[in-house]
Amino acid sequence: MTDLFTDPAALRAKALEIHRLLCRIHGCPVPYFHSLDPLSELVSSLLSHRTRNAASGAAFKALRKRWPGQPSTGQSSTDWAAVRDAPTTEVEAVIAGVTWPEQKAPRIQAILRRITERTGGLSLDVLNDLSVPEARAWLEALPGVGPKTSAAVLSFSTLRRAALPVDSHHHRVAVRTGLIPASLAVGPSHAVLAAQLPPEWDAQRVYDNHEVMMLHGQRCCYHRDPACDRCVLLDLCPTGQARREPERARA
Ligand code: SF4
Repeated sequence: MTDLFTDPAALRAKALEIHRLLCRIHGCPVPYFHSLDPLSELVSSLLSHRTRNAASGAAFKALRKRWPGQPSTGQSSTDWAAVRDAPTTEVEAVIAGVTWPEQKAPRIQAILRRITERTGGLSLDVLNDLSVPEARAWLEALPGVGPKTSAAVLSFSTLRRAALPVDSHHHRVAVRTGLIPASLAVGPSHAVLAAQLPPEWDAQRVYDNHEVMMLHGQRCCYHRDPACDRCVLLDLCPTGQARREPERARA
């Protein structure tokens, strides 16, 4: 495995083969699950941290219901200025279903204030004119925004840019299949895994890569007891091969 980590061409070839095999199962292109404007996607992403999708989705809808936007703007159906200026305890109560609402409410308000200071309003239109690395740097200068959130905003929102988010499922599959070492944390793994994808890939293919890796982690490469016996990646996965050794020894 050590040799593979020092051979970028072999890693890129392996990443592409994994992508190809998983796309056959999950069906690529994968439909986008959101069509939110970038600011809404940013708040949605912050709410989703360490929280089930159903709970973060409900919290996002609750924000919209409590502070509805002006439909005529066409930008967003949440009045983010009202969320920014509301008592923090009220925001916390509205998003109470997510993990750590007492941290997320002040964090979201701090981010909304910071965006207002930097842009003079509450829009992320500024990202339209930036390259993907520039846009990620802009977002990651906001308090508490890391590589996963910046990539999610660029990829999942209506911006539809070629940025690769890495969640815990994606990261686990990448470690077990030997694309990255186990010592590489989720944050720094973003740049390493993105560099293994062809630079000419468009936003849809980069999004597909994240989606199929995540789906594989959710549906087969479980955190506990991965289902290696039915995994399409078994032949190229060192973890799956190692787990088969005792069976081979008994045979
Ligand atoms: S072979 Fe096992 S460990 Fe490897 S990716 Fe598949 S399920 Fe995960």
